[in-house]
Amino acid sequence: APGRPASRAARAAEWSTAAASIDDFPEVALFEERLAAVTAGGADFPYFRVHEGTIRDTTVIGDRSYLSFGSYNYLGISGHPAVNEAVHRAVERYGTSVSASRALSGERELTVRLERALADFLGVGDCLTLVSGHATNVTAIGHLVGAGDLVLHDALAHDSILQGCALSGAARRPFAHNDRADLEHLLRINRSRFRRVLIVVEGAYSMDGDLVDLPAVIGLKKRYGALLMVDEAHSIGTVGEHGRGVGEFFGADRTDVDLWMGTLSKSFASCGGYLGGSARMVRWLRHTLPGFVYSVGLTPANAAAALAATELITAEPQRVRTLRRNAGLFLGLAAAAGLPTGSSADTPIVPVVLGDSARTLRVADRLFARGVVADPIFHPAVDEGLSRLRFFLTSEHREDDVRRAVAVLAEEVAATAVT
Ligand code: PMP
Repeated sequence: APGRPASRAARAAEWSTAAASIDDFPEVALFEERLAAVTAGGADFPYFRVHEGTIRDTTVIGDRSYLSFGSYNYLGISGHPAVNEAVHRAVERYGTSVSASRALSGERELTVRLERALADFLGVGDCLTLVSGHATNVTAIGHLVGAGDLVLHDALAHDSILQGCALSGAARRPFAHNDRADLEHLLRINRSRFRRVLIVVEGAYSMDGDLVDLPAVIGLKKRYGALLMVDEAHSIGTVGEHGRGVGEFFGADRTDVDLWMGTLSKSFASCGGYLGGSARMVRWLRHTLPGFVYSVGLTPANAAAALAATELITAEPQRVRTLRRNAGLFLGLAAAAGLPTGSSADTPIVPVVLGDSARTLRVADRLFARGVVADPIFHPAVDEGLSRLRFFLTSEHREDDVRRAVAVLAEEVAATAVT
């Protein structure tokens, strides 16, 4: 009868054939339906577009050049001649893979130098690099906490943080975005119930374009005896006078954060992740962290690119200033045009939150037709009803480009307004 649970035998019969092929998963059919819905209104499919060459202020798609606000090449370092040259030399000398875990035969001087340079850049005792930023969060959180522990993370935490929590087996509670009162409440009611409490925040939030209130979080971490991890994927190289992240921006004591995490894929023009902190902790991680010990070392090309980028950011701090100026100009013009930029401030990320997915897609499509690339972001990357266009500024944008982009954006947002 309808609604009646299937008998054990019937269920067993169903299960024995249900998952025989991944192609036949109901999730696959659901995904296909959603995919079709994205372009049902006639918009050009906005994902997986093939770009030619390096993306700096502009990008080429097909045979047309576009103003780009879609790449993390915040400081224009990917494609820089000095970085390319360093990569060529590294490949000539070391080939294209280190072909082993670092602990075994994979150690190279280049990676050792990179980790020293990153540690000096961050102002910490030591630093460790891994082949992926996402994997860095997963393995670090999975390693530091476990059953009987608690992770408190910002509600806007990146997927890699959530995956790390799931792997760890620790309990997890989100606190309202950047809400110190909610974080304190969760610490107050939970601290004594768990062995270790790990607070995980991001330096700059990639969907809202705002900064963590680091001094407040450090204050709470100390008051409640919690551990603190800061993911600087989007704040390292972009925030602070010399691009040294939220630690520099807020003048924090580096040792007040237990684990500084970041990626090499954005300002550092490479690929990979890093973990920085006390030399003692990093030595322990170097010998025990699963995603490090059981994975290959960075490729020589990636290590060389990140090292050259670190040197370039240090030698040319004006890149960070130009980035900040461009981001401030974009945000100021957007706000003056009445565009809904939410809580964006002090970062190179400016969202324009339109809410409705169909409208967001339509504006993205119209911008694209007018030569401007900005990615539309929908659920599940953001909450339902908070769809947005996201603009990444770079140091390479020219003032004219920024003014033109905001003008075109304001026109298209007005043209699609729901009346
Ligand atoms: N953390 C945050 C906050 C991120 O935004 C990202 C990716 N954008 C990652 C980690 C993962 O980094 P990667 O893309 O370098 O793997």
